[in-house]
Amino acid sequence: MPVVPMREILDRAFAERYGVAAINVVDDLTLEAVLAAATDLEAPLIVQTSLKTVKSLGARQLHAIWRARADAVPVPVSLHLDHCPDREWITTCLEAGWNSVLFDGSELDVAENTRQTIEVVAEAGRHGAQVEGEIESVMGVEDGIGSEEGGEIHPVEVSAEFISATGVYSFAPAIGTAHGLYKAEPRLTPERVTELVAEHPIPMVLHGGTGLADEQFTDLIARGCAKVNISTALKIAFVDAHREYLDANPGKHDPPGMLAHVRTAVKAMAERHIRIFGSAGKARTFDSAAV
Ligand SMILES: [Zn+2]
Repeated sequence: MPVVPMREILDRAFAERYGVAAINVVDDLTLEAVLAAATDLEAPLIVQTSLKTVKSLGARQLHAIWRARADAVPVPVSLHLDHCPDREWITTCLEAGWNSVLFDGSELDVAENTRQTIEVVAEAGRHGAQVEGEIESVMGVEDGIGSEEGGEIHPVEVSAEFISATGVYSFAPAIGTAHGLYKAEPRLTPERVTELVAEHPIPMVLHGGTGLADEQFTDLIARGCAKVNISTALKIAFVDAHREYLDANPGKHDPPGMLAHVRTAVKAMAERHIRIFGSAGKARTFDSAAV
C-alpha cells in the first residue's frame, strides 16, 4: 500500500470528515519518526517538505530517502511540497516523484496566480500528482516564505472562482490562522471553510495549526479541512529535545543516545496530532494499490 496518490488519502478523509496530519519533516530522523507514529496508530499520513528543506538536501536525494522509508511502512502515505512560489522547483519535485505540490502564488495578483496555477495543475496531472492552491498568504514566515502581516483577504467568492477556474485538487483558505507561534489568541473565521465547501466540495487545507486548541482543530476538520499542516510543532519538538538531552547530559558525547531522545519526542508529537485529527485506525480502511 505505502505510497499512494494524494487524492486516495484526502478523498476519503474529506468524505468522512476526519483530518490527515501533514507534517513537515526536516531530515531522515524526523521522517522516520512520523512514519513510525502513523504506523503505530494505523493512520494515513502526509509527509511535507518545505522548499528550504528540498534545496538543502536535494530533491532527488530527499525523494530517495522518502521512498526507501515509505515503502517500508504498512500505512498509506503521500509526499507533498509545501509553499512553493518557484515554478522551476515545482517542476523539479514533480519530476522527482512528489505526489502533490502547493503552488504558492499568493504574492501574485489573483489573475496571474490563476493563470499560473492552471499551468501547474496541467503539469502535475501529467505526473499523476495533485495541486493545492491558495490566493491569500498565510500570516507569518515559514522557512523563509511569507510575511508577518499576511496579505489581502479576498471575499469568499474570489476563492470560489479561483477553485473553479484552476481545477486545484485542494485549497488553503485564509481563516485567521498563522504560521509560527501565536502571539495572541487567533481570531478564526471557520465559516469561510463551510461557505467554500458548500460551493466546491474539495478538501480544504488548514495551515498554521500549531497552537490551536483541540476543539478548533476538530471544528475546522468537521467543516472540511481534511489536510492539517503541522510544521512549527515539529520544529519545537525537534529542537527542544536536543536541548533537553544536552542539558541533562553535560559532557556526554553519545549521538545515538541523543538521536533516540529526539526521535521519541518527534514521534510523540505526531501521535498527539493524529489522535486529535481523528485519523487513528483509518489506514485499516485502505486497500488500494500503491503508486
Ligand atoms: Zn502554510
